[in-house]
Amino acid sequence: AESAPKPHVAFLASPGIGHITPLYELALRLVTQHNFEVSFLVINTGSSPAQNNYLNSNQHPHIRIVDLPPADHSDPSLFVIVQESILPLRSVLSSLNPQTLKALIIDIFCTGMFEVCKGLSIPVYSFFTASAALLAFSLYLPTLDREVEGEFVDLPEPVKVPGCNLIKIQDLLNEVRNRKSDEYKWFLFHASRLSMARGILVNAWDELEPVSLKAIKSERFFNKISTPPIYPIGPLTKHIESISTNYEKEIMAWLDKQVQGSVLFVALGSGGTLTSEQLTELAWGLELSRQSFIMVVRKPNDTADAAFYSAGGTSDDPKVYLPDGFVERTNGLGLVVNSWAPQIAVLNHPSTGAFLSHCGWNSTLESVKHGVPVIGWPMYAEQRMNATILSNEVGVAVKMPVLGDGGEAVLVGRKEIERVVRMVMEGEEGKKIRSRAKELEVSGWATLSRGGSSYETLTKVTELWKLD
Ligand code: UDP
Repeated sequence: AESAPKPHVAFLASPGIGHITPLYELALRLVTQHNFEVSFLVINTGSSPAQNNYLNSNQHPHIRIVDLPPADHSDPSLFVIVQESILPLRSVLSSLNPQTLKALIIDIFCTGMFEVCKGLSIPVYSFFTASAALLAFSLYLPTLDREVEGEFVDLPEPVKVPGCNLIKIQDLLNEVRNRKSDEYKWFLFHASRLSMARGILVNAWDELEPVSLKAIKSERFFNKISTPPIYPIGPLTKHIESISTNYEKEIMAWLDKQVQGSVLFVALGSGGTLTSEQLTELAWGLELSRQSFIMVVRKPNDTADAAFYSAGGTSDDPKVYLPDGFVERTNGLGLVVNSWAPQIAVLNHPSTGAFLSHCGWNSTLESVKHGVPVIGWPMYAEQRMNATILSNEVGVAVKMPVLGDGGEAVLVGRKEIERVVRMVMEGEEGKKIRSRAKELEVSGWATLSRGGSSYETLTKVTELWKLD
């Protein structure tokens, strides 16, 4: 038995650090805890230093990274790049010895693999790396698409997914706000195909999203919408990163000198960019609040996710984008970081007291796992839904009023920013969400440990794979 080969699974992730990380962290769990061998297929657009650094610094002898060249295509849309890049994958899969592959695990944008895998008898599983609420919405979207005429954003009432909390029109994700757009068509395409998977893993657990998870697993949802088994295995997040560059060391050394729980960490994900006007107000708001902060600053842009593909790339001196004299005036109180911070290390540091976040799902889970309350500043994709889950359902966040009634971004002034920051750093509301965040932190780690529900669920899935 000693020489019996380890069971082998393959992963396919679409580009972007936020997409790669949860799949890779699952791969790491499979090799370290469940004795698997992994081939990890990445569509490498070559333009994200953050993605490359992450994969390089987390190599594992039982994970083979297979870089797939992106399709040569002039259309920069993520959906098109992914779809065209995976069409030639049949030969790559064949070279992996498909008879011995126990499963292929894909993310939501890689559903084109169902065709590619036809006839290869590899069971395909989807790892839904966003919330269970978005999973429920996505499974229900084909029904909504049939039943609703006109735009969802014009509906007079919130959207009701069976058994789930209502979704305010304001919070609907970008991808479904214009049904005539290509973005909508692609999203619907992938959502409709989710249920072709043999099973769907989701990066959540009961205590974080009790209502949505109960709904998707219930008979009622199941009868109405044909759904494969759902396996909540979260919160899988990037584990603590090693601090290697001088730049990172400086950030950590600065944090070491601050008072426990006193620092607000401001970072808007891998892609988030503010308009120049909004960045100015944010800087003034922080300055007026007189709270300690670390602010990740990028070149302003009118498109909210302008940095998505180039995440982690360095840009010019961020000072030039900030109000005149800001850096000098806040010297000692705040630290301005250029483009990218070691987010996990910062969240894990005892000096960090709150996180002003765009509420991407990875950032959301990371804040929860490190017990840090959130000021929600949603920007793109489904972040408005996430911010609402955190504030209204989970009770670990306060939302910055960055949205108009129609869900459009509105300029938040410095006074308002000052008020919200003070409320979270010094006020009663801050105390409440901080203590709830500490509770969830315990629950998040417990569910991933032996005997915890996410741990046991993943074990059950791996046993299925080993049998296959
Ligand atoms: N991140 C980071 N440093 C930064 C900004 C982001 O390490 O300065 C990481 C963060 O820890 C998270 C990922 O990038 O793992 C962003 O994923 P998320 O789902 O939050 O948002 P996305 O960037 O996909 O919108």
